[in-house]
Amino acid sequence: MAGKPPATDPVQDAPEVGEPQHSAVGLPAITHALRISQKQMGVRRTALTLLRVNQKNGFDCPGCAWPEGDQRHTAEFCENGAKAVAEEATLRRVTPEFFTAHSVADLAGRSGYWLGQQGRLTQPMYLAEGADHYVPVPWERAFDILGEELTCLDSPDEAVFYTSGRTSNEAAFLFQLFAREYGTNNLPDCSNMCHESSGSALTETIGIGKGSVLLEDLYKADLIIVAGQNPGTNHPRMLTALEKAKAGGAKIISINPLPEAGLERFKNPQTPRGLAGGGTALTDLFLQVRLGGDQALFRALNRRILEAEGAVDEDFIREHTHGYEAFAEAARADDDWTETLRATGLTREEIENALGMILDSRRTIVCWAMGLTQHKHSVPTIREIVNFLLLRGNIGRPGAGVCPVRGHSNVQGDRTMGIFERPNDAFLDALEKEFGFAPPREHGFDVVRAIRALRDGQAKVFFAMGGNFVSATPDTDVTEAAVRRARLTVHVSTKLNRSHTITGARALILPTLGRTERDLQDSGEQFVTVEDSMGMVHASRGRLEPASPHLLSETAIVARMARRVLGDTSRTPWATFEKDYATIRDRIGHVIPGFEDFNTKVARPGGFALPHGPRDDRRFPTATGKANFTSAPVEYPTAPEGRLLLQTLRSHDQYNTTIYGLDDRYRGIKNGRRVILVHPDDARELGFADGEYTDIVSEWTDGSERRAPGFRIVHYPTARGCAAAYYPETNVLIPLDHTADTSNTPASKSVVIRLEQPQES
Ligand code: SF4
Repeated sequence: MAGKPPATDPVQDAPEVGEPQHSAVGLPAITHALRISQKQMGVRRTALTLLRVNQKNGFDCPGCAWPEGDQRHTAEFCENGAKAVAEEATLRRVTPEFFTAHSVADLAGRSGYWLGQQGRLTQPMYLAEGADHYVPVPWERAFDILGEELTCLDSPDEAVFYTSGRTSNEAAFLFQLFAREYGTNNLPDCSNMCHESSGSALTETIGIGKGSVLLEDLYKADLIIVAGQNPGTNHPRMLTALEKAKAGGAKIISINPLPEAGLERFKNPQTPRGLAGGGTALTDLFLQVRLGGDQALFRALNRRILEAEGAVDEDFIREHTHGYEAFAEAARADDDWTETLRATGLTREEIENALGMILDSRRTIVCWAMGLTQHKHSVPTIREIVNFLLLRGNIGRPGAGVCPVRGHSNVQGDRTMGIFERPNDAFLDALEKEFGFAPPREHGFDVVRAIRALRDGQAKVFFAMGGNFVSATPDTDVTEAAVRRARLTVHVSTKLNRSHTITGARALILPTLGRTERDLQDSGEQFVTVEDSMGMVHASRGRLEPASPHLLSETAIVARMARRVLGDTSRTPWATFEKDYATIRDRIGHVIPGFEDFNTKVARPGGFALPHGPRDDRRFPTATGKANFTSAPVEYPTAPEGRLLLQTLRSHDQYNTTIYGLDDRYRGIKNGRRVILVHPDDARELGFADGEYTDIVSEWTDGSERRAPGFRIVHYPTARGCAAAYYPETNVLIPLDHTADTSNTPASKSVVIRLEQPQES
């Protein structure tokens, strides 16, 4: 059934297509956000809730990881932040009666949108072996079921503990602590599927897998390059920062296969000019690169920088870098313009225009997101961007640096807290010293390896701290079959999603508090902390009454699970941790550098910045002790005659796998998601008119194929030869083994496809 509109679903996918827009936000964004918010929350709750988003004494927006500045507006949220909050603070409820009315098979036939619209989960639910329906269970029974399964495995490595990026620092720290005391490093997370390539490339080259800029750096930059990113939908308040940077004189180059409204023009709703006027044109130069042509583009730019008189920062290179000579030799040897133009789809003039802007800039930042990280050659691509910045000394000075923009609100923090299947020895040593147990040293499963382990019967318990695993992962049919082989699947969730319908022999749904909600424990009201995309850590305090009296916080769920599963063998004070989250922060401060005096530092309004060697004082904690130049052969994906390259992407009414609505306003699409965006000339050459329906068939080098049926062709100004369609509908096209080298991230931005007349009507 993967990829097919569910037959029983009342939500009809019937796309209507208009013209793409050329500006983002403005009044329509406010109207849309308020309409969705009021539909889910009512007028009063909408006002109460939205005014607390991203405020210093409020809660962190669950919508993305974009940072807040020190000065906050009264309304410190964007359209998609409002939608994310409305989804969580909705007044709709999923009660035990709902599960009586809907069997698991019935729910598996519904769309993700329909499931999400049912509202908040209210009680722990249990699906017994062989049962058709979930039934309510008391929390104690839920923990007993967990204990029964986790204590009878042959090895702790038969359990997988997945984390999604909403989880707070406190809950994440406890979750990894529990998993390691239990005996495994099987801690895959959603980062494996998004910025793992950034982490791999940056750790190797600058010694830390995080961005090196703070928000203020954007305002000091001469040039900001935004590559493979659509901030108008995925990090909307980044547009405000880009507008401010432009007002300060910065230029912007955007590099993307699709023109995106948000990067063309921004109508800032906080200003009269944005509300009633024409807004601000953001992009000075748009490079419409072919899918996966970014490494070739940056290599070509690097070659030209090397040739330009006085363009290289020789002092910086001499003092702070390693490997320059080998890199320069390889880059100079790569002087085939024909190949560069073929890889990038750009003209020589466009690349030379970009070069002119780059040479005019003393302070350059490169921002990127999934458009760069989900290719087979993503890691060398990001390394080439680091080469590009190192050449002109653009790391470790104000207004310059690397800026991978994270999607999920605490995905960066979770990794900092130790949610990682390949922890380093320094972290494990600190954990051992602080908690007095020997953590496992063998690396665990990342997401792709966890699916293989479930498929092959090596993993038997799958526990997900948030997220929607089967919709976020590739190879939908394979992944769903793998999950169904588990003995027990467990999801800690706020709302219903497809992963609750694809279960192991037994399944649990454990309902938890959302960010908007008051977290009351025995020692009083608690707050949690999160880390944004730029390494700022701050508090998040919910104020709403919980959606149900039966909810537990994520922290409490982990602490109680640990007590039940580890029993007297554990010397960790789980009960104290549950009562008072400050005690968790104290222990984090003993284990993780930068969190010393955590409780004091986080009490400061706005929080604190984590240390970052390359940014703070050009200290590069790499194997060489310097920033490393690297040189890898240039790669780029190609499609044979009659085929296209496909990228999967989000619609505007979508947040990761959460579908808020069926529109993609900026791209001119309404009321449907089964669309494929194809350049009109490509579509004509392939014999498809706008509005016709097609099956999408992906083709793989081993001769295998995968099919996603029934997509409406939309003529769209994408780069030639490059198509785009939404995930999760197209995840079915991507084999589990099609991953990025080194990072193992599913490579869903470079899929060779053909279009075929539909096999089914
Ligand atoms: S930019 Fe991201 S964090 Fe900020 S309000 Fe929008 S969705 Fe929320």
